[in-house]
Amino acid sequence: MLKINQNYLKLPGSYLFAETARRTKEYQAAHPEADIIRLGIGDVTQPLVPAVVEAMRGAVEEMGRRETFRGYGPDFGYDFLVNAIRETDYAARGIDIAYDEVFVSDGAKCDVGNIQELFSSDAVIAVTDPVYPVYVDSNAMAGRAGEYADGRWSRLVYLPCNAENGFVPPLPESRVDVVYLCYPNNPTGTVLTKEQLKRFVDWARENGALIIFDAAYKAFVTTPGIPLSIYEIEGAREVAIECCSYSKTAGFTGTRCAYTIVPHEVKGADENGAAVELNALWKRRMATKFNGVSYPVQRAAAATHTPEGQRQIKSVIAGYLENARVIREGLQAAGFTVFGGVDSPYVWLKVPEGMTSWDFFDRLLDECRVVGTPGSGFGPSGEGYFRLTAFNTLEKTQEALERIAAWKK
Ligand code: PLP
Repeated sequence: MLKINQNYLKLPGSYLFAETARRTKEYQAAHPEADIIRLGIGDVTQPLVPAVVEAMRGAVEEMGRRETFRGYGPDFGYDFLVNAIRETDYAARGIDIAYDEVFVSDGAKCDVGNIQELFSSDAVIAVTDPVYPVYVDSNAMAGRAGEYADGRWSRLVYLPCNAENGFVPPLPESRVDVVYLCYPNNPTGTVLTKEQLKRFVDWARENGALIIFDAAYKAFVTTPGIPLSIYEIEGAREVAIECCSYSKTAGFTGTRCAYTIVPHEVKGADENGAAVELNALWKRRMATKFNGVSYPVQRAAAATHTPEGQRQIKSVIAGYLENARVIREGLQAAGFTVFGGVDSPYVWLKVPEGMTSWDFFDRLLDECRVVGTPGSGFGPSGEGYFRLTAFNTLEKTQEALERIAAWKK
């Protein structure tokens, strides 16, 4: 019989969202009249903007005519999208990204999950804690994480982020080959300043390490000076790969489009110690295992880079940020200690003394009929915290916060 990849059996079940859904369903069954408000949603809820719909419709019509029909597209993205990304997301901010450093894909999840194929099987991986679980699980599947016990993998290096360190991850103290950074952060909603990010870039340059920078939430940054791209930091082109997505930027979670930047300067060593460009390896991987994003979807993504598209998607983001403000200020007024939610759709709060994240989940559901996500589900340092998201409607968000304020009194 086939021998399976044993590493899959080491993975803990995807407990977090299954368990929040189970408890919510059970509660609803026991209280059919309860009007439950969901602030645990990590998915966008607003429809695609008109510029995107129009571009996609036009592209579908092109595909339906012999003269304009297209088959397989380029492996790494159509020129019109690659150049729009280079122009509006980078050149406009003084960052030079070469044409063949952009790789269009169907999602940042795939890219941050697949990128580890380029690392040796014994590479040492660091993650911030709490963390978006894909970085951890994709390395665990490849056998790089060691054994799982008590919520921790034995070979991963955890960089704890908590109220005490202001959610700024400490630099690794032991040898690390790769660190995953996600800013604005999921789940904490916090950001890093240029100086804070520069410490990581400098550390990576000094230690021959690689940074995988997940910028899936960059469109939510409104505070002046907060970096939207790691390439705003001097020297980052030597040490960082950046993953971006249209999912949260433009409501593409169900449409699927993203891109990853792999600068030529980013290198790893072969078995003889010779430097190899990761760009060449990623090209090889994408050409072998990926056949490009569909033409209508790339046209739709390109529409978000036009002045009209930009205006429209920014207005949707502003709506989510307004919800985040309502959550943040409502919680603060109710006496909670709150983080994030300024440059992010996520608000991270400290649960009252003596409660675990799951205790708070149950109390909030039972007494306010509001659903969020327990911080402990994102890693050991998430215990004692709780995540609320800005993806519900303004009305529901306001009502949830009114209930929480009344409950706290
Ligand atoms: N990266 C982070 C940090 C996320 O939170 C998410 C989605 O929630 C993704 C990536 C996934 O992005 P995509 O929809 O492009 O796969």
